[in-house]
Amino acid sequence: MTEAYDIAVVGGGNAALCAAVTAAETGAKVVILESAPEFYRGGNSRHTRNFRCMHRGPLSVLVDSYEEEEYFEDLLLVTKGETDEEMARLTIRMSEECLPWMERQGVRFQPSLSGTLSLSRTNAFFLGGGKALVNAYYNRCEDLGVDVFYDAEVKHVNIEDGHFTHVDVSMKGGEPTRIAAKAVVLASGGFQGDLDWLTRAWGPSAANFLIRGTPYNRGVVLKDMLDQGAESVGDPTQCHAVAIDGRSPKFDGGIVTRLDCVPFSIVVNQNGDRFYDEGEDVWPKRYAIWGRLVAAQPDQVGYSIIDSKSAELFMPSVFPPIVADTIEGLGQQLGISGDKLARTVAEFNAACREGRFHPTEKDGLATDGLTPPKTNWARPIDTPPYYGYSLRPGVTFTYLGLKVSPTAQVHTAEGPLDNVWAAGEIMAGSILGQGYLAGFGMTIGTVFGRIAGREAAAYVS
Ligand SMILES: Cc1cc2nc3c(=O)[nH]c(=O)nc-3n(C[C@H](O)[C@H](O)[C@H](O)COP(=O)(O)OP(=O)(O)OC[C@H]3O[C@@H](n4cnc5c(N)ncnc54)[C@H](O)[C@@H]3O)c2cc1C
Repeated sequence: MTEAYDIAVVGGGNAALCAAVTAAETGAKVVILESAPEFYRGGNSRHTRNFRCMHRGPLSVLVDSYEEEEYFEDLLLVTKGETDEEMARLTIRMSEECLPWMERQGVRFQPSLSGTLSLSRTNAFFLGGGKALVNAYYNRCEDLGVDVFYDAEVKHVNIEDGHFTHVDVSMKGGEPTRIAAKAVVLASGGFQGDLDWLTRAWGPSAANFLIRGTPYNRGVVLKDMLDQGAESVGDPTQCHAVAIDGRSPKFDGGIVTRLDCVPFSIVVNQNGDRFYDEGEDVWPKRYAIWGRLVAAQPDQVGYSIIDSKSAELFMPSVFPPIVADTIEGLGQQLGISGDKLARTVAEFNAACREGRFHPTEKDGLATDGLTPPKTNWARPIDTPPYYGYSLRPGVTFTYLGLKVSPTAQVHTAEGPLDNVWAAGEIMAGSILGQGYLAGFGMTIGTVFGRIAGREAAAYVS
């Protein structure tokens, strides 16, 4: 295949599509190279539900206002300062114009669902979810004459004397062919799909991690660029990981595998021991730490135990819980010692105090004299039937990425490469050094996808 394009876009998720649409709107000849087959197109973006958007007044489905300072403070809180302020503020400011732009491309929004706790002000939800969003962008690409190749894995991005010349692409697993372009946008996500790389970063425990999203984000382009001297940002051992149902598939289980029962439960490890305060804060502020907590336990597994009093207090799980009339029986069914679990529950129950229980806010109903404590929602587990869920770490995405400038240009030690841009998870580590702010992944991809598309189009015009 020798047809020369103006711009090659590597990847087929949100960031790639935003770049492709923006560039094609200027008349540039664009090709999208998506390693997944057509049915699985859209990477992790197809699993998403919303994006976080600054706004100075009501905007589309967003109520009230959510201004730059509050947004930035929220980001500082979760990243503990591990963010590039210039890049972060740029992302936040530009998010405001993204929403109407997305609507113009055919993306539809809906008010936040009840039960998602106060996101109606900060996060705009996609009607039909991320899959509808990526479909809207693919339709738009088709209208704009963008060529899309599926099953097209980019193996190598050729840089000569600081200048991009072509990509080597394996079509349907065949021998790599060359596609030349005047510029390239790299939007191929993180490396969590490469289990060997995860094991090198995390050690052997990574074998027990589940990957919540696409298996196609294997970091091939990231590694290729780092090998060619591109500068990196972010820590290879940092990733977004949540505790998900232990019965979830290895890849692509998506949002439905999340479990929201932890605050109303006790969580024990394989030895039947508790290891962390399950009631530290409301779940939306804590769910992201439980992936790491479970990852640190023997065999990277945990068990969340509730009784019938709590069974209706959280979003129903996709897999039914294990049910038993006794704690001993529940332990046996879960594969842990029933006697030990019964002792742990008895100790916990003895440490619970009388008080007002309030499931939707921090109620201060804490244990007394227990290590570790449970500081909210601590009610005795004493009303059969008893329910148990196994928990595993579910990796959302990794943070190691390419360093880019505010114009999304990829950097080497010698400075920016003149015709190489990057957007989305592959460069998000600049802004998300650690932690995660719900909806911010799609904001970074949309903002930097559009910047990369604009800059690449200006370069080739
Ligand atoms: C279950 C789940 C729920 C989430 N919910 C939200 C949410 O509600 N809001 C939010 O903001 N974020 C959410 N996220 C995070 C969000 O998905 C990402 O931040 C975002 O999708 C990143 O977009 P991207 O375009 O960079 O990557 P992706 O959408 O993952 O796209 C990467 C693309 O690159 C392709 N690719 C990879 N390697 C190659 C190669 N060598 N050659 C060619 N193509 C390649 C892949 O096939 C894929 O199409 C969620 C993630 C998961 C897993």
